[in-house]
Amino acid sequence: MAKTKQPAVKSYFFSKGYVDLKNTIVSAWKSNARSISRYKDNLSGLSGETWLKKLFFGTINILAMLSVIICGSVITTVISAIHIAILLLFMLLVYIGFTVIWCIDRIYLHKNKIFTACHVCKEKSLIPTYLCSGCGVQHTRLTPGVYGILHRTCECGTKLPTTFFNGRKNLSAICPYCGHPLMDRESRPICIPIIGGRSVGKTAFITAFSKEFIEKVAPSKSFHIEFYNSEKEQIFKEIESDYISGGTRMTKHASDTNSTSSVSFSFFVQHPSLKPERLVHVYDIAGEVFTNNDENEVQKQYEYCQGMILMFDPFSVPEIADKYESAMNAKDIAGIGRADITYIMDSFMDKLRQVTGLSEREMSRTPIAVVLGKTDTADLENCIGDTAVRELMRNQSVVYQDYYDTMDHICRQFLKDNGLENFVNQINNKFSDNRFFSCSAIGHTKDSGPYDPKGVLAPMEWLFQKADKDMAKIWNDDSFSKVPLSLIPAKK
Ligand SMILES: [Zn+2]
Ligand SMILES: [Zn+2]
Repeated sequence: MAKTKQPAVKSYFFSKGYVDLKNTIVSAWKSNARSISRYKDNLSGLSGETWLKKLFFGTINILAMLSVIICGSVITTVISAIHIAILLLFMLLVYIGFTVIWCIDRIYLHKNKIFTACHVCKEKSLIPTYLCSGCGVQHTRLTPGVYGILHRTCECGTKLPTTFFNGRKNLSAICPYCGHPLMDRESRPICIPIIGGRSVGKTAFITAFSKEFIEKVAPSKSFHIEFYNSEKEQIFKEIESDYISGGTRMTKHASDTNSTSSVSFSFFVQHPSLKPERLVHVYDIAGEVFTNNDENEVQKQYEYCQGMILMFDPFSVPEIADKYESAMNAKDIAGIGRADITYIMDSFMDKLRQVTGLSEREMSRTPIAVVLGKTDTADLENCIGDTAVRELMRNQSVVYQDYYDTMDHICRQFLKDNGLENFVNQINNKFSDNRFFSCSAIGHTKDSGPYDPKGVLAPMEWLFQKADKDMAKIWNDDSFSKVPLSLIPAKK
């Protein structure tokens, strides 16, 4: 309920009602006093009269004065009490009214997991700052309260809706923290940061996922996609051109200059059975955040994200790179995100904690998908890719019946075999809900033709299932643990 002063007119019973009550009581007593002084004047006007007149009119005026003092006071007191009672009753009714509607509004927001995740500064707010459609003044708490139950009147005279069910979400809004325009429309956000060191393929993953989801999954599941704003639409144009050229570039965007270490690609997902509409934010977290010591700004989105993707370039591990170097071409070798193995194992969790600002307990509850990329390079397809998964399922069909359980097992085993057992154990210890995936975002060596992604949807679908059961149900009728058949690549 509105606690901070709002640029709006307060409800009659919480403002003018008091003034009217005070004025009525004061004027009633004043009128009593006026009557008494009139009778007093009458008495003093009798001085020159005969004793009979004096006795007669004097008695009348004294009686009248007494009746005003006694009866007038009693009547005024009773009427004032009735007035106060009526005012209090209406005040109570209005108070109950806005409290009930305020509660309904809050319950609706919480039940539907609606909040605003600013796409620029990443701060979370339950209700953004709304702007008056008439004068543009900021209403920081546009909720039912002393300014009105369903509507409030702005100081400029414009009537503004104060609840989810009568059009509040259609007003222009800004972030209460950074002031950037927001278009969230009281939707339910699904926030997934893509994290990992430099050159591990995060941007390629986002490019491949976005294009596949928006152009293949959405039409087949009757999801209607709407870009968050023109800036995000521009990002998708770049995604499309990268997809065709096989490149990866993510330009810096104007409004992101104050938080350059992460850029969000945001779009609405609408479906007749999804109320409210969903707002997907996929965050591309600059690799430098994890590899440099100088940048450690806290990324607010980790406090509320429903899951994260940790991209991992297998070739960043020297053992693996050395093993497969002979089978790689010069471009592949140049694109490797080299990093010290000890760093990956020992300091990654610290880095993550620093960057996210989350406590260990908070972090452990967030589902994490560890994605081993670049399966198209060297012989990785036969070690952790689709071929390897099918091979193991065929040979040990009793043990490995689930495609993604098998993939999870193969990826963990691959990392353990290459000296990364510590890393696998750390993920297990620090994140109670984790799963390993392999994928190839570009599908082939960099810059050699359009994307042909493999396995980019599965980790995202797994996280979406954790984030939003209703949407995941539409995305795929089969539960993830029971092999989402539609996601398993066709047999070659
Ligand atoms: Zn903001
Ligand atoms: Zn206004």
